[in-house]
Amino acid sequence: MPRFDAVLFDAGGVLVLPDPLVLAPLLAYFGGDPSLDSHRRAHYAGMKAKSDIDAGESSWDAYNDAYVAAVGVDEDDRAEAAEMLDRTRYHATWRWVIPESRAALDRLAECGVPMGVVSNASGQIEAMLAREICQVGPGDHIEMRVIVDSELVGVAKPDPRIFDHALPAFDGFDRSRIAYVGDSVTMDIGAGAAAGLHPILLDPYDHHPEADFERIRSLDELVAEFG
Ligand SMILES: [Mg+2]
Repeated sequence: MPRFDAVLFDAGGVLVLPDPLVLAPLLAYFGGDPSLDSHRRAHYAGMKAKSDIDAGESSWDAYNDAYVAAVGVDEDDRAEAAEMLDRTRYHATWRWVIPESRAALDRLAECGVPMGVVSNASGQIEAMLAREICQVGPGDHIEMRVIVDSELVGVAKPDPRIFDHALPAFDGFDRSRIAYVGDSVTMDIGAGAAAGLHPILLDPYDHHPEADFERIRSLDELVAEFG
């Protein structure tokens, strides 16, 4: 029996990443490995660094430093590369669709799992997701019951009240049987737990082996829960 009746997703780091097709040439200039794999890994290394210092949504210095180090930018160039990364990675560049996540959403939809998205974003997230991933209600892609953008509702994670804007779409559901999948310990695990949901960290590179919360390596593990 599945442990969950519904699944909510964070967007950044779970459905999309800062576009490596933009960032790879930017950092290759400083000696960074331009491979997709290296950039995917660098995102989660950055999130780990952010979580280690409990950095809030507006603080990305630790992320930038860890990201450029992870792709192998030359040591002498890291400060300059991190600044350039900071100036280039803005909300509109969080657009590269994680292919395994997109495929997993298809399979969850086939299983009839009620789903939604709760994202700290800048007003753009619903339109961006509608291009290739999902929309509210029936449409070209995966059907979501709700897509919450922090900018539009005026409250952001780690404030758990952001979920008050999603949960009316899951009326009658037991909160503890709604999974919330995110890639940030501070933003997602903290806020999800405080809201009474079942938070799960997407931790594809095993950065948090000591965690006292649930982790998955990919959304395929969620699919297995329902399959
Ligand atoms: Mg995220």
